[in-house]
Amino acid sequence: MSYQTSTEGNNAPEFVPIDYISQDQLITIEEITREFDLKTERLIEISNHFMRELNKGLEKYGQTLAMVPSFVTGRPTGQETGTFLSLDLGGTNLRICQVDFQGNGVITIKQEKYLVSEAQKVGESHILFDFIANCVLKFLVEIGYQHEKEKEKVNLGFTFSFPVAQTAIDKGTLLKWTKGFVCPDAVGKDVVSMLQESLDRLSVPVKVVALVNDTVGTLLSHSYKYPNTLLGVILGTGTNSAFFERLSNIKKLNISSDATEEMIVNIEWGAFDDEKDVLPLTKYDEKLDLESHNPTYQIFEKMISGMYLGEIVRNTLLHLIDRSLLFNGISSPELNKHYIFETKYMTVIEVDTTPTLEDTRKILEETMNIPSVTLTDRQIVKRICRLVGRRAARLSSLGLAGVIKHCGAVEGGCGIGIDGSLFEFYPNFKENIRAALREILGDNVDNIEIQLAKDGSGVGS
Ligand code: ADP
Ligand code: MG
Repeated sequence: MSYQTSTEGNNAPEFVPIDYISQDQLITIEEITREFDLKTERLIEISNHFMRELNKGLEKYGQTLAMVPSFVTGRPTGQETGTFLSLDLGGTNLRICQVDFQGNGVITIKQEKYLVSEAQKVGESHILFDFIANCVLKFLVEIGYQHEKEKEKVNLGFTFSFPVAQTAIDKGTLLKWTKGFVCPDAVGKDVVSMLQESLDRLSVPVKVVALVNDTVGTLLSHSYKYPNTLLGVILGTGTNSAFFERLSNIKKLNISSDATEEMIVNIEWGAFDDEKDVLPLTKYDEKLDLESHNPTYQIFEKMISGMYLGEIVRNTLLHLIDRSLLFNGISSPELNKHYIFETKYMTVIEVDTTPTLEDTRKILEETMNIPSVTLTDRQIVKRICRLVGRRAARLSSLGLAGVIKHCGAVEGGCGIGIDGSLFEFYPNFKENIRAALREILGDNVDNIEIQLAKDGSGVGS
């Protein structure tokens, strides 16, 4: 039999038709579709819960949403000028930039990327920070910086995308690692000191002057260009967001201020619902969480971000293989490996419009080494990618809607800058976010501008 789209619920996704599907396959695929579906009503409920959590985090320290005050006050005017060095440790890459602010919202950058190895992610922290310091040195050589001539140390802004308890613009202690990093001796230490020590040890003529979360950086650089910006968001290896909050709302800071003063707050939204009270976790999500470096933490992030989506798909495929409903019940040593099925493969599969899904076949047969993959198999895999990718976009929109409502910006509208390869490359991510935002906020969504804030995280610091 042939199986077309399921049309239940609002904004029903467009699914790939599946040819020649068996009754057993059909039943299981429909069940999986239901598991990953996130109806409007549920979306609104969870978004309301998210808003309550925002307030809790603003009132007290140690809440599920850390709501970290950034100590960045005021907004850029777009007229700031000067040349600066920035360093951005994401989850996958280390980026070093020379940023030139030319005024009128114009920015030019020179950038190099360096890959962080597994050994550097999980070893002692000085190995990681020495590696970073070495990359800075290489970069200075690359851009022709001559310390003998310049005398002064170069000021560097450090974008560090892990949860930090910030105590000043250039000070913050690491609360925990996420996204597969685990250097245990770094937890509880000041991130700037660790980097500065490595720089000094290697005689790199650089002074770390600002510590900024990547969401804060994204928000700042986006608002340099677009003054109406309210939110900076990361959808890359991990996910998180920051926004301009009224200082008087950050009750836990206990600072008296007038109604117009603002400070950027880093939500650390990846930890939303670590209690697992409201998010619709499937058995595939539970398996991922259990087998991760940080079980029971970053539950929202694990359903949304680039590090994890491929792994959710892999878990779902294994479930089907175990029931002999996919690949004739045969897996491969490759597909049995954790995190082998990368999120970027989902992008390739989602955009595969060849009649026989040839690109999908290549990934499954050639990269994953599955012996034989029928057209039905490929269509099933494509459908699962779509379900997982679409759910991720819908979940991120409930966070966006929560902040927009919290700030009273529903009617007046606002700008949102989003950085990260998931948002940049995953097909229809933005469209799916907008569609879900419309379900939550209604036609007010027309006043909300969502844009890619490419390299924003580094520029902002
Ligand atoms: P970081 O989060 O480390 O700063 P990025 O924003 O570049 O870095 O995000 C990297 C993540 O984005 C990777 O972990 C990967 O999951 C995801 N990604 C990279 N390329 C693609 C792609 N073509 N399609 C979808 N996701 C991608
Ligand atoms: Mg990044």
